[in-house]
Formats: sequence, C-alpha cells, structure tokens
Amino acid sequence: MNDELHALSGAYAVHALPYAEWVRFDRHLRACAGCATEVRRLRETAARLAEAVAQPPPARLRPRLLDAARRSTHPPPARRPGGGHGGGHGGGD
Ligand SMILES: [Zn+2]
Repeated sequence: MNDELHALSGAYAVHALPYAEWVRFDRHLRACAGCATEVRRLRETAARLAEAVAQPPPARLRPRLLDAARRSTHPPPARRPGGGHGGGHGGGD
C-alpha cells in the first residue's frame, strides 16, 4: 500500500523524515509523478518563505506545512473493491 507514502511528501519536502522513511519515500518518488510534483511545489513554497524572512522557516510552521500537504495530497491511484488490507490481524502490543 503506497497511500501512506503519498502522505509523506510534505515531510520529505521539509526534510522532516527519519532516514529510513526518507529512503522509502525517495524510492517511491521516482515512480510517483504526483508526489514528485507535490514535493517540488512544497519546496518552492518553502524556499520562497525562507527568502521572505531571510532565515529558516520557524519550527512552528512545520506542522502546518505537513497538515497542508496531507490535505492537498493527490487521491489514491486506485481502489480495490472488496479487498481490504491483506495480512493477518495482529494482536495488540
Ligand atoms: Zn505518491
């Protein structure tokens, strides 16, 4: 399921991903034009913000960027009718 990866575009764009996630998304990015465009747009916006204030965007802005990114994420490519997430239903922790 790559839906989760689509949602990471915002975090990736602002370098907020842990390395392991970064690697996963970086790989996904090469195959997903939607996320590639999203990352590019977010980076352009972030760069503009940085220019405007002549300093790195404040940390408090990050959650808002991530939230905006999640909302603007392109819709999932395809839905599988009837098919839920495969795999067993694991127990709790
Ligand atoms: Zn994607």
